[in-house]
Amino acid sequence: MIPKPIELEILFVDMDAYFASVEQMDRPELRERPIAVTPVLAPTGCCIATSYEARAAGVRTGCGVREAQRLCPEIRVVKARPDRYITVHHQILSAIDRVIPVVQVESVDECWCRLFANERSPAAVDRLVAGIKSAIGLRIGPITCSVGVASNRLIAKTAAGMCKPDVVMSIRRTELPGPLRELGLTDLPGISKGINRRLRRAGIHTINDLYNRSAEELRGAWGSVLGVYWWHWIRGDQLPGPKTHRRTVGHQHVLAPEFRANNRARGVSLRLLSKAAQRMRSLGYVATRLSLWLQCVGGASWGDWTPVARTDDTAELHVELLKLWRDAPAGNVLQVGVRLEGLVLADVQLPLFGAERSRRSLMAVMDQINRRGGADTIYLAAMHHERKTAPRRIPFGAPPDLDLPDVDGSGW
Ligand SMILES: [Mg+2]
Repeated sequence: MIPKPIELEILFVDMDAYFASVEQMDRPELRERPIAVTPVLAPTGCCIATSYEARAAGVRTGCGVREAQRLCPEIRVVKARPDRYITVHHQILSAIDRVIPVVQVESVDECWCRLFANERSPAAVDRLVAGIKSAIGLRIGPITCSVGVASNRLIAKTAAGMCKPDVVMSIRRTELPGPLRELGLTDLPGISKGINRRLRRAGIHTINDLYNRSAEELRGAWGSVLGVYWWHWIRGDQLPGPKTHRRTVGHQHVLAPEFRANNRARGVSLRLLSKAAQRMRSLGYVATRLSLWLQCVGGASWGDWTPVARTDDTAELHVELLKLWRDAPAGNVLQVGVRLEGLVLADVQLPLFGAERSRRSLMAVMDQINRRGGADTIYLAAMHHERKTAPRRIPFGAPPDLDLPDVDGSGW
């Protein structure tokens, strides 16, 4: 006999407006007020998180500070404190862990747990969620989360995002699509604007359309086997994502004589990495490995690599690249290459709520502006010095300032 499929198994915890909520928790004067968090306190800055009070006034993540102040004159703009968010993240994980083991951390404000057979009744789920919320309240402070419960991660995560803040939503497998019918396609984590465009071209405009297509039709709509996975996921099946694609994106450059000193080559490598990361994002991938290689003047070559946590974030990758440079041989460099490896489809693997989504949408906005306005119209603060060492600028640029900035503190 085939066992009956499990109705509820994954419990997904998603903190509400996480960075803004941490600020409101730490500073009572900010509570119940519209606030925005920005990496740089300046009118030209960008809101990477907003409180629900700010969202009510139309201020969204990705909004410029000036625009936020126009939409909501009483908004308080506060500077992001990444270290604090990470500290609170660990405290939250250990609070949840006291109630139910955390199986996987998805991002700084999301994780999920697996329900055992005796934890799957509505009453048991309510008890667990109450336990999680009170553990967070007691051990950390007034900060809320939303919880989604379903048979797989996709539906649980979708449920957690559906009626924020501070709610619990269970969607049983046999109810599907049920409440999902009210959503737009891009409300499903993993359906990016790009995928949405593809689906529209295939005549899929609503969640109902998605459910009405066969697995083969979805394969066609996605243009890959991923469509078949989606057919299963939206039905609540537990099916691990497709295997890692063995693709790489990289750039290399032969250095002009004046750029061969080790520190100058390092600056060029950061620029190459930025280009590669932009290219990777345009392809819709995230990297799991970063490699650096050098050919030295005199012929010797050297290379090293490091695993990275499924990222497409230029700032994070910069930090990892600078770590690789610590072991690079001293001496002059003739040629430098940077490669992003072990690429995985971003839409399958990356969480798309909260911090990750903010960062990804920031990167997407940067890429868009740079495509329109030319490279380096906008760039990360960490690249302020390096950008002048860009190969495309070498023939024209003034001698670059080679003081490497403190990339670790470069924000987001
Ligand atoms: Mg969140």
